[in-house]
Amino acid sequence: MTVSLPQPRCSSAALEELSDEILTHGQKLLLEQDIARWREDLRQRLEQIQRHPEQGLGFIEEHIRQAALKLQCLLVQKAMQDKADAVDEVCPDCHGPLCAKKRRVPRSLDAYCGKVKLLRTHGWCARCEQWVFPADRMLGLREDSTASPLVQEMCALLVSKMPAEQAEALSLRITGRRLSRSTLAREAQRQGDSALQVRQQLVEAPVWVAPASPTNAALLPESSPQPFTLVIQIDAWNVRERDHWGHTRKMRRKDPKFDRWHWVYTATCFRLNHRLTKGRSKNKLRAIITERSYVATRGGIDALMQQLYYEARARGLAQAQRVLVIADGAVWIWNLVEDRFREAVQRLDLYHANAYLWAVAKELFGAGTRESRQWVKPLLKQICNDQVAQVITQLQQLKPRLTQAATKAADEAIEYYQNNQKRMKYKQARQLNEPVGSGAIESTCRQLQCRFKRCGQFWSTPGDEALLCLEMFWRNQRWELLFPHAKLTAIANN
Ligand SMILES: [Zn+2]
Repeated sequence: MTVSLPQPRCSSAALEELSDEILTHGQKLLLEQDIARWREDLRQRLEQIQRHPEQGLGFIEEHIRQAALKLQCLLVQKAMQDKADAVDEVCPDCHGPLCAKKRRVPRSLDAYCGKVKLLRTHGWCARCEQWVFPADRMLGLREDSTASPLVQEMCALLVSKMPAEQAEALSLRITGRRLSRSTLAREAQRQGDSALQVRQQLVEAPVWVAPASPTNAALLPESSPQPFTLVIQIDAWNVRERDHWGHTRKMRRKDPKFDRWHWVYTATCFRLNHRLTKGRSKNKLRAIITERSYVATRGGIDALMQQLYYEARARGLAQAQRVLVIADGAVWIWNLVEDRFREAVQRLDLYHANAYLWAVAKELFGAGTRESRQWVKPLLKQICNDQVAQVITQLQQLKPRLTQAATKAADEAIEYYQNNQKRMKYKQARQLNEPVGSGAIESTCRQLQCRFKRCGQFWSTPGDEALLCLEMFWRNQRWELLFPHAKLTAIANN
């Protein structure tokens, strides 16, 4: 059955005229007859729905959304024009007078509801030696983009979560307006670049020092905080970049180890009392962290260190009674910890520790066999009970009887345990109800890989770093620093 879609004889043209009227008579209110015209458009749409019994609530919602978008466009344009008309025609930087003024220069913008037009004044500031549009600055419009702030935000959010081609299709269904793939990608990059600047300002800000006077105690974020443990977890994963594209052979000749895979350094931190266990039965408990901070950067270990230090301070590093770092055996991680979190308790992720024993078991008895499980079980128990030295001795005693492959696995395990022995205090962890694994960061890495490590995906360093930065602002609940208008939605939905 073909469904004939009603084509509202919509007064699109009439609404268009209205839009021009708003520009010409910016000072006037949106008149009652204009609203009436819009109401008439809506009435016609609803009448047509009534004539089509096969059209249910979905059609009603879609028609009303489309009609409402047109009205919203008019309202946005009207309010924007009023604000532009009221702006002081001075230089927004030095507040000096403008000369060679040109009034009512038109500009077209992409707002969330559709295209809107703006007329504003343009002038020359002799002191700053620049041409300026005071209204643009006041409205938060970028010189290099036609996107409105809400559209800028939508692009940033969508593209940091999914590839631009998916975001294009999704934007049409969710917002009722198509944002083109190129607009999405370009805007997300611009917003990501701005986010990088904001992040730099944050991490470079001086450490906030609490005032010493007791009268100021109430101003402190937590005047007498309960003692707490701060948990930090660190890991890395890799992303593929398009560097030296088309020159692979040449690059390989120069450097046989030439690779397009690069490390994304990732970390998380949270207070132990923000980690709760949830689940119906004792066997199905899983940990949930209610408040936590994230870091992810392609900028190298130094960048990770700077950002992680900032996040740890924001979570109360200075007040923490105990700081606990959990990670795998990567040498760079523990060097970083020695450097920045010298007082921290270090713990090797139990899963990684166990994996080395499983590797030996596999060589001895084959992967997944009953014998391998039987062999490994008592050793895993010893690891859990802090008897690492005994495990090392047993592996050493075993070696003369092993095949070459098993010897190699045993040697790797012995070396790993010797290097990390002091970080393998799992009994203490259980007593203190602390995590023994770095599952929180492992799962974060997996989530990020779902966006950044898709099949056939290649990045550029500025591209992936900008999007990672946006994603971290989102996860760290600092989105409103980039898009202050988002506060209104939060307030309205509280
Ligand atoms: Zn100026």
